[in-house]
Amino acid sequence: MAGRRSSGSATPDGDAAGGATADRPGGESRRWEVRAPRPSVPRSFQSRLTIAFVAVVAVTLGLTTPVIINRLDDFFRQQEEQALRVHAQATATVLAQFIMSDVGSEAVVANVNGTVALNPKVVALMTQGRLLQIISGEVAQADMVVVFGPAHQETDGKWETDPQPSLSYPVKWNAVLPHGQEPDPAITPAKSSVAESHPVRPWGLEVTLSNPNTSRASTLRAITGLLLVMALVAVFVAVLVASFVAHRFATPVVRLTEASRRVAEGDLSARVTMEAESGTEELRALSEQFNTMATRLQESVEIIRRDRDRSRDFLADVSHELRTPIAAMHTFIELLQGPAGRDAAARTEFLESSAAQLDRLDWLAQNLLDLSKLDSGLVLLDLRPDDVRGTIESAVEQHRATAERRGITLTAKLPDRPLRISHDAPRLGQVVGNLVGNALKFTGRNGEVHVTASPDADGGARIEVVDTGVGIHPAELPHIFERFYRGSQANEARGTGSGLGLSIVKSIVDMHHGTIEVESRMGHGSRFVVALPRDPSAPVERPITPTAESQRKMDDSSPAAPRA
Ligand code: ADP
Repeated sequence: MAGRRSSGSATPDGDAAGGATADRPGGESRRWEVRAPRPSVPRSFQSRLTIAFVAVVAVTLGLTTPVIINRLDDFFRQQEEQALRVHAQATATVLAQFIMSDVGSEAVVANVNGTVALNPKVVALMTQGRLLQIISGEVAQADMVVVFGPAHQETDGKWETDPQPSLSYPVKWNAVLPHGQEPDPAITPAKSSVAESHPVRPWGLEVTLSNPNTSRASTLRAITGLLLVMALVAVFVAVLVASFVAHRFATPVVRLTEASRRVAEGDLSARVTMEAESGTEELRALSEQFNTMATRLQESVEIIRRDRDRSRDFLADVSHELRTPIAAMHTFIELLQGPAGRDAAARTEFLESSAAQLDRLDWLAQNLLDLSKLDSGLVLLDLRPDDVRGTIESAVEQHRATAERRGITLTAKLPDRPLRISHDAPRLGQVVGNLVGNALKFTGRNGEVHVTASPDADGGARIEVVDTGVGIHPAELPHIFERFYRGSQANEARGTGSGLGLSIVKSIVDMHHGTIEVESRMGHGSRFVVALPRDPSAPVERPITPTAESQRKMDDSSPAAPRA
């Protein structure tokens, strides 16, 4: 049997009652619960908030309205019952006075042949004329029943009437009702009696008033209508407020969602725009956090991209640099294999050239190895608090022969007192050696190269290498510390460079937590200044990699002082 599946909502559930069974190849059957499509519930924040608001208002009104109406009903009823009791009392008194003034001293109630009878004058008063109607309309203002009977005195001296049902006179009040008034059967009937102490036949009458005309029902109807109108207004206001609040809340969330979607699609510049008056503190904080996160992400991706580009360029440069000597050697070998190989002089020349190319390859490989070790942090500096003068002097001396060969004056001016800083002597020797090597390379015959070392105010050392050479073009200054960068003068000066020397210098200075600056004027020479702290292992505030700001300054700077 094929299992029935509702579109996208069938879930495997072995025990689901009512589920369809799907037979599987192994004989094992599986039941799929077929879920009924969910009733369409509003999903947007706005509609849910509106429904919640309206529900709260409706429940509040639904609970309070009946209570209010009930309490009002009770109140009106009590008022009306109180009034009816007063009317009953007044009616009984007025009626008794009428009867007494009519019959005088005669008995009102008499015992005739064992039955209680009413004085015929009183009967006439009750049945003829409109006395009862008038009293019912003007005094009682309700349906009225008057019952006569003999009276007796209680032990406490009070007179009580014994109403005789046979002597009762009901009157239905049928006056024209004022607007809003109607007979109210819900009002408890009020009874009141009057007893007269006649010397021979004490008598009394009891008045019962019911169905008074009240405006209770119409007032309640009016109040209920008013409450309904108020409820409608409240619901309407709730809808408006909910929409407004939902809009305020939902807008930042929608913006956040939109920005997240754009970031997810790769647009890392997407940010959430925030308006001070919209949303809540929490949503604003969330948006700010999102923007911070997106900025960091964008910066990281840019750094990774830059690194990737730099690595690609670096690889291209490395292969180019390696290919040049290899190609030269390849040519020599081909030539040696040809007729030129039989010529001893040509053979010697080619072999010497090949040896020079091999030296260059070796030198290049060594520099590359140094640089990659320095960059990857594999090289740990062997820092020792030593006199830096010795390191500088020996680096300068190594270039003495070259300087003399090229007719360049090379001097080293060192302080008389020891200049003790914590440094890695061989690496710092490499720094000074590279700078002096460059200075000699880019300075012509009869030029000068001066190396100076001096203490700085913080106990560190300042090493300057100044030459009177060709100088560096302002446009090239920001790039001279880049790997494989060779200035336009490089080839004319000496064609030996690879553009790695200053990169190595910068890496070593960075590892010492120092700085290197350069000033140069075309045709007048260059000045490289290395500043080293007294103790590189002490915590420093300086960022190790140039920030965007420092990079910008470097780019904008005059040729006078780029800093690496
Ligand atoms: P290279 O091995 O080619 O000298 P470097 O990294 O040492 O490579 O130097 C990079 C570039 O900086 C050089 O090609 C040159 O243009 C410039 N440069 C460095 N030092 C000097 C200097 N003292 N005078 C003039 N230009 C210099």
